[in-house]
Amino acid sequence: MLESVSENFPQIHQSQITYLDSAASTLKCKAMIEAVTKYYREETANIHRGIHDLSEINTTRYESTRDIIHNFLNSKAREEIIFTKGTTESINLVARTWGEANIKSGDEILISAMEHHSNLVPWQMLAEKSGATLKIIPINDKGEILLDSYEKLLSDKTKIISVVSISNSLGTINPIKDMIKLARKNSPALFMVDAAQAVAHKRVDVQELDCDFLAFSGHKIFGPTGTGILYGKKELLEAMPPFHGGGDMIDVVTYKKTTYNHLPHKLEAGTPHIAGFLGLGPAIEYVQRIGLNNIFEYENELLNYGHEKLTTVPGLKFIGTAEAKASILSFVIKDIHPHDIATLANKYKIAIRTGHHCTQPLMDFFKVPATARASISLYNTKEDIDKLTETLIKITELFG
Ligand SMILES: *Cc1c(COP(=O)(O)O)cnc(C)c1O
Repeated sequence: MLESVSENFPQIHQSQITYLDSAASTLKCKAMIEAVTKYYREETANIHRGIHDLSEINTTRYESTRDIIHNFLNSKAREEIIFTKGTTESINLVARTWGEANIKSGDEILISAMEHHSNLVPWQMLAEKSGATLKIIPINDKGEILLDSYEKLLSDKTKIISVVSISNSLGTINPIKDMIKLARKNSPALFMVDAAQAVAHKRVDVQELDCDFLAFSGHKIFGPTGTGILYGKKELLEAMPPFHGGGDMIDVVTYKKTTYNHLPHKLEAGTPHIAGFLGLGPAIEYVQRIGLNNIFEYENELLNYGHEKLTTVPGLKFIGTAEAKASILSFVIKDIHPHDIATLANKYKIAIRTGHHCTQPLMDFFKVPATARASISLYNTKEDIDKLTETLIKITELFG
């Protein structure tokens, strides 16, 4: 059991709500709230440009978050860590800069059948603009990627592959490392990882994976909304054109020509979410203190318990039954609409999510309009699962 975790999440004590919606956004940890509050209450100043004390203090702290993430992801160099607004912006950045400079008509872009819209639409937009083809790696009924089909899709035409590490709708843990090895063997493609759901549950090591790009959001790992990370291999980031133009990303500006700043600043234009990144550092350090192996083990126990308990709800069917799974319990119950399930659960003060979870094509694959989804994090307990189970049983009784 993870000791003293609940003390670190003030919302657990301040609300009566059983929070089972961490895949949408996690609760926020104390160290992060304190860092953000301190900046706004006592130490506001802009960074990078000032020479006064507050500007310097904040620049140092802001840049130290980059060191923390560099260490957290085990990137080779700190300049490989780019600050963005979130996973969505990180993926769009790659599609718009690397993508528009490198993808041509006839090329192929590969994603899986379980991608979040933010790892689908930017690639679809790039395909439309460039004349490239977007191809979809199929999955089976359990919600697992079909590796044979994936291998067959790889060719000289494949230029970029972007796949989710842990599915937000199904909980499937994809075999990213094997997929990258297969990509290297059978294509010239770069490989991007959507690690939005992965980072708070499972250790991610970019050198071990050998991925080219990786993205995640601060708000899904106990940090502030509006913060995100793009990891990219240095030589790729260096060769990429800038994304946004403006302050901070420049070296020398004249009307004739502008030269750009070095990495990481070349890809970070304008005043960033300073408070957010001051908060993200302590949030990540908190995760490191507990240890992702401990977190994974604890959550896995809860997940297994959840599978066992929810099976006792009459008519409940899980959507997503992969062998390798993390933190997500997605389900439907007979013909009760998932919206009704979540609305009634809310009356019993349980927060779960319903809808397509930003994966509409995946819902079509499973032939459901939506699912109800309970997602767990390190602060959840067996009591939360018990309460959910009892409530779902009551709901099925209400519907006769
Ligand atoms: C949440 C999520 C995203 C999008 O993240 P934002 O924070 O909304 O930018 C992308 N992929 C997955 C798997 C997610 O769970």
